[in-house]
Amino acid sequence: AAFSTSLYQLVRQKKISEIKTDFINNMTHEFKTPIATINLALDAIKNPKIINDEEKVKRYVKMIRDENKRMHGQVENVLRISKLEKNQIEITKEAVEATDIIEEAIDHVSLLVSDKQGTINTHFKAISSEVLGNQFHLTNVVVNILENAIKYSEGTPKIDVYTENTNKYFIFKIKDEGIGMTKNAQKYIFDKFYREHKGNIHNVKGHGLGLAYVKEIIDNHHGTVHVASEKGKGSTFTVKLPLI
Ligand code: ADP
Repeated sequence: AAFSTSLYQLVRQKKISEIKTDFINNMTHEFKTPIATINLALDAIKNPKIINDEEKVKRYVKMIRDENKRMHGQVENVLRISKLEKNQIEITKEAVEATDIIEEAIDHVSLLVSDKQGTINTHFKAISSEVLGNQFHLTNVVVNILENAIKYSEGTPKIDVYTENTNKYFIFKIKDEGIGMTKNAQKYIFDKFYREHKGNIHNVKGHGLGLAYVKEIIDNHHGTVHVASEKGKGSTFTVKLPLI
């Protein structure tokens, strides 16, 4: 047993170090574009012809500000998850209607879906959906899962959202008919920095933090989150939250 444990740890350690390398490559790639854009805009502003053209200066300043905001957002994501892990973020809770939260999240991604001519159909069967939760974080959780369903669908995303409840739990499912994932990937997707679809690095942006955040928040709410998926066929994420 001692041997297998250490072997397991070794494999695990190797996996983590691979994941870290991927993350650094990914981050570096995503910072390169904004940094290059900022440099170009700064050079342009220095140009004597441009410095006197107010409109152009404004445009370049806006570009710099936007790119800076993007980088800031990425850094914030990394910080947020590490703070969450260290329990440095206090998550206040109140009675909230989970159904309303799901509706709000769907609203939030509606532009993203229509941009890809996709659809989100709802099948709300839950009679009770009152949970003790944090509105902001729970909305983020649903948005993250929906965004993935859109991101990892080729062509037009077709997404179905189901709700139901038992005596004790409110349950929702988000189903897509996207690219799906292997059994092996399903083991790691809730780990920090894990990304299966590295081949798509240029098309599909992300840092492998979304689902780690989802899991942190759902754990914090004493719920569970699972995935069922088949490569090439699609994925279904199921979240269970205790009812009040
Ligand atoms: P990111 O999307 O930023 O890479 P996530 O933590 O949200 O990070 O997801 C981790 C990985 O899980 C993704 O890189 C992707 O490989 C896989 N994944 C997540 N959601 C889906 C989905 N709906 N369909 C297929 N693969 C998914």
